[in-house]
Amino acid sequence: MTKVAVIGAGMCGISCASYLQKNGFGVTVFEKSRGIGGRMASRRINEQVSVDHGAQYIKPYSKNFLHFLEETVRAGFASSWSPLGMEKNYIQEKKIFVGAPRMNSILKNSSNNLEINFSSKINKILSNFNKWKLVIEGIEYQKEFDIVVFAIPFHQISEIIDDAWSTVKKISKVKMSPCWTLMLLTKNKLSFSDYEKLDNEKISSITFDTSKPQRNKKFNSYIIHSNPNWSERHISYDQNKIEEMLINILTKDFGQDLNIEYIKAHRWLYAQTTDPLGKPFIKNENNSLYAGGDWCLGTNVESAFISGFEIGKSIKSYCTNFHLK
Ligand SMILES: Cc1cc2nc3c(=O)[nH]c(=O)nc-3n(C[C@H](O)[C@H](O)[C@H](O)COP(=O)(O)OP(=O)(O)OC[C@H]3O[C@@H](n4cnc5c(N)ncnc54)[C@H](O)[C@@H]3O)c2cc1C
Repeated sequence: MTKVAVIGAGMCGISCASYLQKNGFGVTVFEKSRGIGGRMASRRINEQVSVDHGAQYIKPYSKNFLHFLEETVRAGFASSWSPLGMEKNYIQEKKIFVGAPRMNSILKNSSNNLEINFSSKINKILSNFNKWKLVIEGIEYQKEFDIVVFAIPFHQISEIIDDAWSTVKKISKVKMSPCWTLMLLTKNKLSFSDYEKLDNEKISSITFDTSKPQRNKKFNSYIIHSNPNWSERHISYDQNKIEEMLINILTKDFGQDLNIEYIKAHRWLYAQTTDPLGKPFIKNENNSLYAGGDWCLGTNVESAFISGFEIGKSIKSYCTNFHLK
């Protein structure tokens, strides 16, 4: 059986891993954090409330992705959402989906039967007679793999394989922008709609997270995503300083009277792609290393889904042609 290691349990990694597993491959996923989802991220604030501090909603354009989301809704892990404040035409054009009860629930269904090693940050891979060995925080993982799939942000790949893979250099035009995000719980309801996309040089969107389906309505939770340029300029600032600055912006620029219950800033170094690769994935010459993610095709969860799925299909087709399965 061909053994495949998938690095990253975000949308790209899970869609690739579940496709390969369904098609008879031996798949092991490695994830540096303690849960699935990647940038479809949710943070538990207390026993009663979690907030989505990465992707806010999902809008499907392709048939395949819509089908995946509809199945996820049927399985009880996603729901449609019609936020007040979002342009009616935008919502009517295509349905908007969110994970339920949290954004990362979207991957629960497809990751159910996968072998996932959490808290396993891969920092190196070593070639060993046509096989790959993975190194987790300096310790070699016992199993060897025929194929390794990198399903992580583009710039983090070179931290693992360095210059060993010249293809990475060829795609160096890929660019991703950072984002400072503020998670905010207030005792009072603020004067924002459920979702506000702003043309503002400091803040790019404000979401009333509580308005999403299956969220605890006793809390007023807000997610504030700052503008990419503002984030870039303040990228090295201390988290406390960012919290102070964003609170100032909300009170002074937006006239909000904040009765704060909880506040935490989170820095996304690689939030959304600004210059994508332009094809669904890259691979090395002997088809033993693949890399994909949203950065291949665009800026959103759907780009990551397509990339993971296309990697899976390519691996299957290569192995079938060469009777490697
Ligand atoms: C602030 C913000 C707002 C966004 N808003 C939206 C939105 O509204 N709608 C939308 O569609 N998209 C949005 N996006 C983009 C969307 O979240 C991403 O496009 C998508 O989730 C990317 O999926 P991925 O699988 O390619 O990568 P990721 O989700 O980044 O997954 C990569 C995974 O790899 C893991 N990893 C990284 N390095 C290693 C390592 N060395 N070893 C092991 N594991 C590793 C990470 O922990 C992570 O879980 C937003 C993103 C951000 C950050």
